[in-house]
Amino acid sequence: MNFEVDICIVGAGVCGLAIARQLNQSLPSSSIALIEQADSVGQGTSSRNSEVIHAGLYYAPDSLKARLCVAGRHLLYEYCRQYQVPVRQIGKLIVAQTGEEDTLSRIADNARASGVENLQSLNASQIASLAPAVRADTGLWSPSTGIIDSHEYMQSLLEQARGNGVMLALATRLSDVRPEDNGKKLELELTSNWHRKSAETSRVSCRLLINCAGLGALAIAERLHQAGVARSQALPCIKWVKGNYFAYQGRSPFSHLIYPVPDPTGNGLGIHATLDMAGNCRFGPDVEQLAHDINNEEVLDLSVNASRRDMFAKQIRRYFPALDESRLVPDYAGIRTRITGDGFQDFQIAEQQLESCAAIHLLGIESPGLTASLALAKHIAERVWQLELFN
Ligand SMILES: Cc1cc2nc3c(=O)[nH]c(=O)nc-3n(C[C@H](O)[C@H](O)[C@H](O)COP(=O)(O)OP(=O)(O)OC[C@H]3O[C@@H](n4cnc5c(N)ncnc54)[C@H](O)[C@@H]3O)c2cc1C
Repeated sequence: MNFEVDICIVGAGVCGLAIARQLNQSLPSSSIALIEQADSVGQGTSSRNSEVIHAGLYYAPDSLKARLCVAGRHLLYEYCRQYQVPVRQIGKLIVAQTGEEDTLSRIADNARASGVENLQSLNASQIASLAPAVRADTGLWSPSTGIIDSHEYMQSLLEQARGNGVMLALATRLSDVRPEDNGKKLELELTSNWHRKSAETSRVSCRLLINCAGLGALAIAERLHQAGVARSQALPCIKWVKGNYFAYQGRSPFSHLIYPVPDPTGNGLGIHATLDMAGNCRFGPDVEQLAHDINNEEVLDLSVNASRRDMFAKQIRRYFPALDESRLVPDYAGIRTRITGDGFQDFQIAEQQLESCAAIHLLGIESPGLTASLALAKHIAERVWQLELFN
């Protein structure tokens, strides 16, 4: 089967879904197809994260991560209110021990420079009254941090996008992409039921490809480059980094999110305590480097190795001394798509433009991608407008 659409979005995670909804609103007369290799939407990283609505404390001021996180947080709370998506603004406590005060004040300065104005410094007794199970000497309270039911959120985005005419193809993988008609269009090769015996190939031509394929996004951008399409900037190097979670069985010892100060190597936020919408507590994610040759989703092992429990317990006890290690149970893991390089790495949005068609690739969309999703969708809609393909 061959068909033609104006815009093809690859990947129905939270970014692809938010962008489909936004472009459908911004360009109501354009036809949009959303292509997803899994049997349902949001089965990738978007359903394997902490479900935290971040305030925007840690990212370099003025970076895409900082701007889209702060703007996205406001949009997301508003969206949840409007469309009855379960959300709770439970606040987050960052706790520090003696000797870590400088790190805490750098976080506070960075947050203010990013437009987060409502952080409060806490002393040990204020921490004890907010979170009696926590032991810490000083802390920062972030009242705008919250949690969301990410599955309900993605279903809501999907309903709106589909209700307004976005076509959704599930169990369909983008297997190749190349320019056609002297750069007037892109031709996509799609394989439906690719993981079954009944696999079938079809071709779609479009004028705009939006690549939101998460872990698969870099391979698609590289494929288009190999097919002879120049890019406006060099593509980054990306590595996959696993984040494991342990559930804490029984009643949660906390009613807020509890974070230690981030890992000094800049690798992660430190093993923290999050809550889900039902009030269950889990700890994680940690940072597990994967072997270099693990860059194919089909060989990924998403199970959590129970032998990591001791390392979890050691780190958690620094701020929660009463931890009962026997209640820590391997839960789930997610994979970060992390741009490599020294220091802070931003989201990267790469463009490839031809005669009258273009591709936009979303690369390195690790945390705070869930929080930023609605602002990211608006940002992409502005870039599409600037490409003048449909105006
Ligand atoms: C451990 C962890 C914790 C996190 N915690 C938070 C948090 O608390 N708050 C927050 O804001 N962010 C958090 N994040 C980040 C957030 O989860 C991601 O930024 C976000 O989910 C990325 O969404 P996405 O749509 O880009 O990617 P994905 O959800 O991975 O979606 C990509 C989709 O593309 C599909 N796909 C891939 N290749 C193809 C192909 N060739 N053809 C068709 N389909 C394809 C995949 O099946 C997938 O469904 C966390 C991330 C991790 C890993």
